[in-house]
Amino acid sequence: MGSSQSALNFGAGPAKLPSEVLYDVQQEFLSYKNTGMSLIEMSHRSKEYMEINDNAEKAVRELLKVPSNYKILFLQGGGCGTFAAIPLNLMNRTGSADYAVTGTWSAKAAKEAAKYGKYSQNLRDREVFPDESTWTLNPNASYLYYCDNETVDGVEFPKIPNSHDVPLVADMSSIRCYIWRCPKNIGPSGVVVVIVREDLLGNAMKVCPSVLDFTHVAKEKSIHNTPSTFSVYVMEKVLQWIKKNGGVAAMQTQIVPLTIGSEVGLIYHFVGGKNGNESLEAKFVEEAEKLKMYQLKGHRSVGGIRASLYNAITVSDVELLVKFMVEFQKQYGPKP
Ligand SMILES: *Cc1c(COP(=O)(O)O)cnc(C)c1O
Repeated sequence: MGSSQSALNFGAGPAKLPSEVLYDVQQEFLSYKNTGMSLIEMSHRSKEYMEINDNAEKAVRELLKVPSNYKILFLQGGGCGTFAAIPLNLMNRTGSADYAVTGTWSAKAAKEAAKYGKYSQNLRDREVFPDESTWTLNPNASYLYYCDNETVDGVEFPKIPNSHDVPLVADMSSIRCYIWRCPKNIGPSGVVVVIVREDLLGNAMKVCPSVLDFTHVAKEKSIHNTPSTFSVYVMEKVLQWIKKNGGVAAMQTQIVPLTIGSEVGLIYHFVGGKNGNESLEAKFVEEAEKLKMYQLKGHRSVGGIRASLYNAITVSDVELLVKFMVEFQKQYGPKP
């Protein structure tokens, strides 16, 4: 392998990508498939790019077993842009929607929805996940929205909620358990994957910008205007890398970090949490960086320490982190 990267990157996003993919991109960066041009210099309507676009869509369909009555769209504007796109596309049916607010991201999504219609909020800033039987769902909602994993607050849905006959919309930016384990790092930033059931299309509000209109984007096969060609190109490579490495199931079993849970708890005990010691946190980050372990600082809104352990992080990377944590605990932790 031609990788010369040596930093251990525990970032939450943008985050570590497989070095094999980066190497591949580097190799063909100046001349894509011997064309003498870089892919980023080519038209988004070139046969080269359209092939990448098609292959990326096929790979998503295959990896996630997406049924044929669902469209796969590549949009821009990120997760937050999609927070607006969802009500703009789907709220028209009944004029209202249900939002399960379990943390930062779903709260943002609900705030965005409020601009376009009525919404009811089911759960408010709950740290512990409330039992589904206690929810009062609006049977007349256009959809029920939830965030599978609140990456800032660490609140994860234990299972897919039952929305009864109401369409379910999920923010799967970080799918920790069941589907794929490459939240936010299926490629560089600049592309967001939307998977939508066909019968829900065609209901966008009049004010919906064309670039966010799922129906329009689906019709144009995600090349309605200039896409982030580089992002889709790298994403396609990451998807092929997942396929080559055994697909989604393999990605799940490959993940070992559960074993470091107790060590994380240990660290959390004295550097993090609500009564966190900020100077010790800073020390932790500083000491870690000396060992080339980067992006361990928590989200700016909550602070603390966060290690994101996605597919591209190897077991030995995790072991190095654990070793460092144990050493840090010995040196700076409470003495027994
Ligand atoms: C990061 C994140 C987002 C926001 O994504 P952007 O592309 O930065 O707008 C939304 N939802 C979840 C769960 C996230 O982790």
